[in-house]
Amino acid sequence: MDTRMIYVGGQWRPSADEQTLSVRSPVTEHEVARIPHGAVADVDAAVAAARAALPAWSATAPQERGRYLRRLRSELAASRDAYAAAISAEMGAPLEFARLVQTGLPLRALGGFLDALNDAERTDRLGDTLVLREPIGVVAAITPFNYPLNQAVVKLAAALAAGCTVVLKPSEQTPLSALMLAETLHGIGLPPGVFNMVAGLGSIVGPALAGHSGVDMVSFTGSTAVGSRIAAQAAGTVKKVSLELGGKSAFVVLPDADLEAAVADCVASCLLNSGQTCTATTRLLVPRASLDAAVQYAAEVMAGYPVGDPADPGAQLGPLVSAAARDSVLAHLEAARAAGMRVVEGSDGKDLPSTGYFVRPTVVEVQDPDSPIAQEELFGPVLCVIPYDDEDHALTIANGTRYGLAGAVWSADEHRAVAFARRMRTGRVDVNGGRFDAAAPFGGRGQSGVGYEMGRYGVADFQVYKSVNVSAMYEG
Ligand code: NAD
Repeated sequence: MDTRMIYVGGQWRPSADEQTLSVRSPVTEHEVARIPHGAVADVDAAVAAARAALPAWSATAPQERGRYLRRLRSELAASRDAYAAAISAEMGAPLEFARLVQTGLPLRALGGFLDALNDAERTDRLGDTLVLREPIGVVAAITPFNYPLNQAVVKLAAALAAGCTVVLKPSEQTPLSALMLAETLHGIGLPPGVFNMVAGLGSIVGPALAGHSGVDMVSFTGSTAVGSRIAAQAAGTVKKVSLELGGKSAFVVLPDADLEAAVADCVASCLLNSGQTCTATTRLLVPRASLDAAVQYAAEVMAGYPVGDPADPGAQLGPLVSAAARDSVLAHLEAARAAGMRVVEGSDGKDLPSTGYFVRPTVVEVQDPDSPIAQEELFGPVLCVIPYDDEDHALTIANGTRYGLAGAVWSADEHRAVAFARRMRTGRVDVNGGRFDAAAPFGGRGQSGVGYEMGRYGVADFQVYKSVNVSAMYEG
């Protein structure tokens, strides 16, 4: 596979710009591949190919699209180890995590889209009106570094299921699994132009796609800062923009909950993917009387998550994606220390590897929930533990950020926990360890985003309605 190529109209071809970018291992810090710099002409060619393929693809029956998605699922499952190795190389994810989670998630997501296909083009009859569901058209999918295969599959599979054609722009930090995905889609015989991929710099390829008059919708996952820019770039050509953005999710331990079980679950969520997960519960809210115990226990649990080389089977946490990501997390911790906060490392006693962007899991006791470390998404293995006085106070803190992506509540009384969950301004809440469901809608409130992914809700996001007014006699 020549990683310097773009995939357009069913063919690999050179980018219009000969310059290339280096992709570096966050473990060795050495180059693992080079990808195109990206060019506006690449985007023009990919969008033209997607537009040309749209009439035929959107006219296929959902069952036929399902056949391609089933083939994709079998190929991904058969190549799971190779995908895991690529994801481990590009982002330093421990191999077992890359296999189980990074490649397991898209396999589950595909199941949710296949189930949705039966009903994907249902026509509703309202009196003398037929309400049709139609594909929105050409979709630009722009994805982040942290679950590189999953984010690409979640967007393209839902868009293809809806009858749309796609141009994917993967993260320049972790593009290798997306390049493999293009090869896999080529191998299953997807018609040329239905899927296209242009790797390159976000600042070049991103605006060219978002502002393109041939693109009908932008589906973006990434940071809130870039998402807001994408929305502005898309505004000039008036298109739908779906945004899956950052988070600072609250994990609320109500006073009657099992504190130790809750803290262990919160730490597991916070440290998932070395803390580089949008839904990570990074704010642990506990009754004031339990603050000390919660901080200590969280640090103890963290010590059970060894940080190390992803090839080492004992390592549960790899490095952060880049030196800039590591430095930003360390700067936040330094500022917290300087502000007099209690900062406790969860160390297993071993030294960190000598190269790579590793950060130890860390707990910070935060008295002021409005302090920067408790408000900003750090995207690293850092848990803020915040005390509350009563349930209303806990709710105010939980809802007191600009985000609203995920969250959790624990209580001995599940009804009490669900009642609290209803009052949280967020897109998802896990009650007493309830787990992610690949068929349920996934999306954020506030500055965590607009729109929904996964299952039939994800397919519907790539559809538009058409009302056809007929006579009372019309049947069908
Ligand atoms: P990012 O915003 O830096 O980059 C995301 C994508 O945008 C990349 O493909 C990048 O090349 C592109 N981009 C960068 N600058 C651009 C510009 N000026 N114009 C257009 N496109 C541009 O995000 P990241 O660091 O790769 O990913 C981490 C972020 O993603 C976190 O904030 C995380 O919470 C969020 N995220 C959200 C979800 C979700 O479903 N809500 C899922 C995963 C990650």
